[in-house]
Amino acid sequence: ASRYVNASTAATLTVAVRARPLVRAEIAKGGRRDIIRVLDGRVVLVLDPDDTKDYLDQVQNRTKEKRYTFDVAFGANSTNRDVYNGTVRDLLGGVLQGINTTVFAYGATGSGKTYTMVGSPHDPGLMVLCLEKIFSDRDTMHRDEEFSVTCSYLEVYNEIIYDLLVKNSSPLELREDPELGVVVAGLKHITVTSAAEIMSLLEEGNRRRKTEATDANASSSRSHAVLEITVRRTPKNHYKVTQLRGKLSLVDLAGSERAAETNNAGQKLRDGANINRSLLALANCINALGKANSGKAASYVPYRNSKLTRLLKDGLSGNSRTAMVATVSGSSDQYHHSINTLKYADRAK
Ligand code: ADP
Ligand code: MG
Repeated sequence: ASRYVNASTAATLTVAVRARPLVRAEIAKGGRRDIIRVLDGRVVLVLDPDDTKDYLDQVQNRTKEKRYTFDVAFGANSTNRDVYNGTVRDLLGGVLQGINTTVFAYGATGSGKTYTMVGSPHDPGLMVLCLEKIFSDRDTMHRDEEFSVTCSYLEVYNEIIYDLLVKNSSPLELREDPELGVVVAGLKHITVTSAAEIMSLLEEGNRRRKTEATDANASSSRSHAVLEITVRRTPKNHYKVTQLRGKLSLVDLAGSERAAETNNAGQKLRDGANINRSLLALANCINALGKANSGKAASYVPYRNSKLTRLLKDGLSGNSRTAMVATVSGSSDQYHHSINTLKYADRAK
């Protein structure tokens, strides 16, 4: 069957940045400005947070601003659909051809990771938009094959995996399956037949995420949430039946500011250290991928160093594609977080 083409063998990495606008509560508090501008769909400009002049009138005097260039960048007016169109949409064809694909949102707590990945019923995020596209592609395909889509939703918290699709999940273990690759033993997989079904499951799952008791606003800041969408295609009426299986992992990472924190105590230290380990391990893997991507010598990729990277291994290594959406708040009081995120994303290119 000619539709089952050979996949490209080169791993690819797309680095995107999304700046969010100030939210109403931030504007109401006052004393904050939106200091991020996106130019030409690729350049992110961070203005001097201490300078209150209107920079758009100060073209000659831009001395303290910082400037970064990415594969694609989205400004405060961008929608979830804009981000989807500019990042993952073109990767979904590969998923249907059996290419494992990983998309993750990286950024400080409150920068817009969950907004981008999950969204809300009236503004669905990348997780829902991807499923929509998978089902609309299915509808245009020939009917001489079986087509099934299954989803799982889990969190990695404190280096322990929990199922977000069930109540009171017990800790789950990673296993290496000879045929399926990395699997989570006992994880619930549900068969999905439309994108609409997933939104309520995601919202329910997000309510189960481990939140930070000391700060209600920093909800879910310490757990990584992973939605895995597996697409299986089996041609009918073929003498020799081969199945195409593509896995799309969409990851809402823990707040990246934790990775920089070392002065916590007790449980907090253990939490921080583990988040640190997963984010650090992911950062190392991404760096290695970025190098391979730009034609530099392929280096060892340390997947085994954390639960998150072990889990994502099949979607980060070898014949796979990766997109990172780094999220930043435009608010002047988030300047240091935004610069840290942009520097990280810049290194990943
Ligand atoms: P994170 O998951 O990174 O901690 P959230 O996605 O929860 O951050 O976003 C924090 C707040 O900012 C929420 O109130 C959210 O609705 C709002 N927000 C995030 N991104 C955007 C955006 N692009 N446009 C408008 N509001 C946004
Ligand atoms: Mg969040």
